[in-house]
Amino acid sequence: MKVLKFGGTSVGSSERIRNLAQLVQSDEPRIIVLSAMAGTTNSLEQIAELLYQANKEEANEKISDLELKYRERIDDLYNSEEFKSKGQELITTHFNYIRNFVFRSFTSLQEKAILAQGELISTAMFHYYLSELKVESIFLPALNFMRIDKDGEPDYFYIKENLNRELNQYSDQRLFITQGFICRNTYGEVDNLKRGGSDYTASIIGSVLQATEVQIWTDIDGFHNNDPRFVENTSSLEQLSFEEAAELAYFGAKIMHPSSIMPCKLKNIPVRLKNTLHPTDEGTLISGNQAGSGIKAIAAKDGITAVKVKSGRMLQAYGFLRKLFEVFEIYKTPIDMITTSEVAVSLTIDDDSNLSEIESELIKFGKVEIDQDQSIICIVGDFISETSGSAKQVLEALEHIPLRMISYGGSKHNISVLVRQEDKIAALQALSKHLF
Ligand code: ADP
Ligand code: ASP
Ligand code: MG
Repeated sequence: MKVLKFGGTSVGSSERIRNLAQLVQSDEPRIIVLSAMAGTTNSLEQIAELLYQANKEEANEKISDLELKYRERIDDLYNSEEFKSKGQELITTHFNYIRNFVFRSFTSLQEKAILAQGELISTAMFHYYLSELKVESIFLPALNFMRIDKDGEPDYFYIKENLNRELNQYSDQRLFITQGFICRNTYGEVDNLKRGGSDYTASIIGSVLQATEVQIWTDIDGFHNNDPRFVENTSSLEQLSFEEAAELAYFGAKIMHPSSIMPCKLKNIPVRLKNTLHPTDEGTLISGNQAGSGIKAIAAKDGITAVKVKSGRMLQAYGFLRKLFEVFEIYKTPIDMITTSEVAVSLTIDDDSNLSEIESELIKFGKVEIDQDQSIICIVGDFISETSGSAKQVLEALEHIPLRMISYGGSKHNISVLVRQEDKIAALQALSKHLF
């Protein structure tokens, strides 16, 4: 079994959907994981925001705008009157559902139910389109098998049992369509795997089925050596190891959801990144093989908060760091970078939702300084087998950028630096110019 995930742009227009219908056909068994059409989840988020604000009029307007777009796409996509009318009915059902929230008080649970509509619509539209072409496929509702536990982690046991039960009903079938991103939580409510989560869906499915390959199809020819949104002349990488790809995804490479490598890494399932617009290109292969040495790629993650605690009590003391880290543990806040000196510790967090509580605990240890709006820049490669001084190259490239923290040696794949968010683009460009 292979798992193929197609992102928003791959289902972003009728033309792309028609193209996709050709791409997915094969003699080998496949599960196709689809995102919502490009822009839909953003629109649904805006609608939910308006509903939170009880701004019914604007919410209604936005709902109608989105509905109209879908009605036009339906009309364009299907050839026969039968499927045009089936498609329109589908849109009526989903938009009536969304509209029904305009008249109720709004909670985060309902927001998740609204966000789920994008993937529910795109998969149903695609399934209908395959039916119209008389291509046999099975519609697998992700809400029947995708589940996260109380910590928001995939419930692998449940997913495996329930997905296999669904698949066993169709042992003579080869093509399955399901939704990325959406799932249920431990209480059975509709939830999701966070923005960009369709990649994660694909790798979780690949992992529980021990797939031969997971493919992530998107609008670019594989993993690039720097962020193409901010840097010109980036180039696609042929190969990355699981560790390298995981670091890059975690530290901001938007092409993959931050958690999406781990499930495949644990089961040693190769992940291939492919371009829907150039399907015969090889793309990037992510696997257990370590290929090449030296610096390979750069990614950046915004919205980082740096926390510095300065304390005389740290001098030659043991147990200090444990007590300090315990504060972050209590508030379920992961720490990314850490640097220490004799009397101070600096660390970074991504999730600042409990920052003021954390700060008031840390004050008990000493002086606390907080800098928000920072970016972590992560430089990834194989730095152990390489002897020519990667750290020196990085620091030279960044000589004109103020660096708040530097982390080297934590793993053999990663050098990270912390810069102000406003310096991020200049830093990425300087690194590209100097290193590649
Ligand atoms: P999809 O909707 O298919 O999931 P995304 O927009 O989430 O697509 O991811 C693809 C985009 O990620 C690319 O168009 C590109 O702009 C951006 N991106 C950021 N960093 C990288 C990188 N290192 N390599 C490739 N693409 C990247
Ligand atoms: N549609 C969701 C999002 O836009 C999931 C995804 O695209 O992967 O975040
Ligand atoms: Mg994505």
